[in-house]
Amino acid sequence: MKRRIRKPNNPAPKEWQAKDVSQQYVADYKPFNFVDGEGIRCSLYVSGCLFNCPGCYNVAAQNFHYGQPYTKGLEDQIIDDMSKSYVQGLTLLGGEPFLNTQVCLKICERVRKEFGHKKDIWSWSGYTWEELMNESYDKLKLLSMLDILIDGRFLEDKKDLTLQFRGSSNQRIIDVPQSLQQNKVVIWDKLVH
Ligand code: SF4
Repeated sequence: MKRRIRKPNNPAPKEWQAKDVSQQYVADYKPFNFVDGEGIRCSLYVSGCLFNCPGCYNVAAQNFHYGQPYTKGLEDQIIDDMSKSYVQGLTLLGGEPFLNTQVCLKICERVRKEFGHKKDIWSWSGYTWEELMNESYDKLKLLSMLDILIDGRFLEDKKDLTLQFRGSSNQRIIDVPQSLQQNKVVIWDKLVH
């Protein structure tokens, strides 16, 4: 008998809403790391994801109750860490940032208030760019605050560990301001492979 290969979940437009699922929990916070995007970064891992990709790199963080509640204290810590001159920016990961827009909008708004565009904001998402274009206001608002989006589910049959900042070859490193301006996906101009 042929074994059926399980695929990630595929939501209909606006089917999954942060207001219905997010508990505003964070799985982890890692200041000063070199792996979650360009330069030295502060990474916030929000809790909860519904895509359920086989081979997910962070299964524990698929649970919306995993970790700790997001607090003003943590937010102040992130801002303090990001104020160091050698920190290039903030990275949002998960879990799914776009199903935790309450938390992600709060920290992005604070980063823009404190640093303007002197620091950049990157986010990973299981949603594709095209899916986000048909999504709810909060997701589009979060997208508009980003510099870089790495989009799409992790697909085991497209897994490639040599790719820059991505786990599978369907995922793209997208220049968000350029893509919004040109109304089409524009790939990051520093893409190596
Ligand atoms: S989108 Fe990311 S966090 Fe969510 S299940 Fe897939 S790999 Fe895991």
